[in-house]
Amino acid sequence: MDKHERSLTTPLERLPGVGTPRAQRLEALGLVTVRDALIHFPRDYKDFSGAHAFAELREGEHASVAGEVIDIGSRTTAGGRQMLTVLVQGQGGSVRAVWFNMPFMAKKFAVGMRVVLAGMPKRAGKAWEMTHPEVRVCAAGEDTSRGEFLAIYPLAEGARQSDVRLAMQAAIDHAGDLLQEAFSEAWLEAKTLLPIHEAIREIHFPTSLEKLDAARRRFIYQELFMLQLALRLHRAQQQDRKAAPVMAVDARIDGRIRARFPFELTLSQAEVLTEIVADMARQQPMNRLLQGDVGSGKTAVAVYAMLAAVACGHQAAIMAPTELLARQHMATLERLLAGSRIRLELLIGGQTQAQRRKALQRIATGESQIIVGTQALVSGSATFKSLGLVVIDEQHRFGVIQRAVLQQGDTEPHVLVMTATPIPRTIAHAVYGDLDQSVIREGPAGRQPVLTYRVAPGQEDSWWDHFRKKLREGRQGYVVVPAVEESKRGLASIASAFEELANGPLEAFRLGLVHGRLKSAEKQAIMEDFRGGKLDALVCTSVIEVGIDVPNATLMTIVDAESFGLAQLHQLRGRVARGAVAGICGAITASGDEAHPRVDSFVASTDGFALAEQDLRLRGPGELVGTRQSGKLAMYLADLGKHPEIVAEARRDALDLYERDPTFADATLTRLKKLVVDRWGETLGLGHVG
Ligand code: ADP
Ligand code: MG
Repeated sequence: MDKHERSLTTPLERLPGVGTPRAQRLEALGLVTVRDALIHFPRDYKDFSGAHAFAELREGEHASVAGEVIDIGSRTTAGGRQMLTVLVQGQGGSVRAVWFNMPFMAKKFAVGMRVVLAGMPKRAGKAWEMTHPEVRVCAAGEDTSRGEFLAIYPLAEGARQSDVRLAMQAAIDHAGDLLQEAFSEAWLEAKTLLPIHEAIREIHFPTSLEKLDAARRRFIYQELFMLQLALRLHRAQQQDRKAAPVMAVDARIDGRIRARFPFELTLSQAEVLTEIVADMARQQPMNRLLQGDVGSGKTAVAVYAMLAAVACGHQAAIMAPTELLARQHMATLERLLAGSRIRLELLIGGQTQAQRRKALQRIATGESQIIVGTQALVSGSATFKSLGLVVIDEQHRFGVIQRAVLQQGDTEPHVLVMTATPIPRTIAHAVYGDLDQSVIREGPAGRQPVLTYRVAPGQEDSWWDHFRKKLREGRQGYVVVPAVEESKRGLASIASAFEELANGPLEAFRLGLVHGRLKSAEKQAIMEDFRGGKLDALVCTSVIEVGIDVPNATLMTIVDAESFGLAQLHQLRGRVARGAVAGICGAITASGDEAHPRVDSFVASTDGFALAEQDLRLRGPGELVGTRQSGKLAMYLADLGKHPEIVAEARRDALDLYERDPTFADATLTRLKKLVVDRWGETLGLGHVG
């Protein structure tokens, strides 16, 4: 290939050794050009460094060991499977590698050969055992303690690790040096960041653990730095734009609002309200994130703020993540506002054209003062007479994009974002960096923690005995089953799970069934029956997860608890944390009594913030905050949880830079600015930066 053709946009297919069939497989991963490949980052690395001594091996912790093959055996198990065993003797111990039904593996080995095995060690008598480990065969005389890390890439149907690795090598050779450096040399030096060309090589083909760490650090730093800068710019643009209505809450208004609640606001609620009220009294639009554990009373805070907006002569809207929740917010407001003159409006998907038109009209004329809707509200055609406040009840997902959309309009309301589940501080900073934050630290007094148990196989009968006993005492309960595709036991359908319960453990009780595919009205009717005590127990999928509030329901059984995420489990349990009466929750696991970190953490703690940190460590933040849908965020988030200090540093540096040079006047910042705008400009509407 001609030297002049070197470019980041060269199709992978044209690189030496890639070829059309492989290029087609790579396309399934979205990898078409050299640039696509270079920024397709590994999700993990296999450690073949052989550095582990036998004494360091721990059950269930991935490790690698080096040694010599001293025996090879193969037999058929009682179950009819082909089993290959390779015994490897190393310094201070031996490990038996086992493969089932992989006869071709036998050809790889010969007695006397030196190998490194990488996998999950398990104790087997005096020796260790690894099932289906990775193998690296060492050349004679090769130093097996030498570092060797193999990148593992996210794959899609059809593409293989070897395809990606080969393309990656070719892409780096072809144009690895053409990637733009975002930082000036002085900056790289001051921050001890690897230059881009070295970093890109090391992230794909690490030469040592230290270099790999340095490369990761550089990319995490860069991504977060750019995101923080983009968020800061976005915020600055917001501030420059239309002013929000100034809404001053005086003692009279405050007193009237407080009198509406059937309880005293907690100290925590009062504190965050002080912050919110102060924001609303300013012309600069509020941009605030309200955090608090499940049941800490966020809704009451939101309601207060909305009533304040109305009292000041403006409209307020609250957007819920689901219709069920929108209706529930509506019901809560109707209860609280019974006898008042405040007019409520519900705006959701299931309404008829005529209903919707009338609702929109009332919103436009200002006749409706508090509007409750689903998030369709933002996308939609609603025009407000005078929108003073928007509350986004955000079901545990990134709001960056949504908020940006919301704020593109001509009206500039104050915005309060509530998270349904606590977010670890690291993440909150990274992703909600442009928001002020308020945290409700303590829920209402007298809250009893939910007693949570793990129910292992064999213990189900006694669990159900307990559950039934409590139902007979007049309590109500939920039985949560995973949606079909999530189930570990392959429950044929939610309907058959229902049958099993209705003809089995819960035969004697009045059961309702709620799942995602029911029509909204049906769901609503069943929820009403449950709320009204006409049903004893509700069999449901995780549609019940967020925010549903039925005071008498204090029991919960979670079937196949392993199928749920930690945050989700905690959300579910929040449904039965009802204060005066202690909630009871049983997490049935299909697996035996071996440790299950997620379920065990869930059983061990009822502190949502602690669990969120734990979840971050266990799963990485991508899943935690639902970034799988927004691929753009996934990459740099991969390591976020493990590097809170980089997050903090990047944030500080970005804010500093902005303070020093808000227009990027310094010539060394030109490339950085371009990269930021390329990356985030469209999403955040950074049309005219600088
Ligand atoms: P969150 O939205 O934070 O999960 P909610 O606002 O739904 O929590 O509140 C949970 C329950 O606590 C509701 O039943 C609510 O009426 C009640 N609650 C809220 N604030 C208080 C308070 N200050 N004192 C007593 N109960 C409260
Ligand atoms: Mg809530």
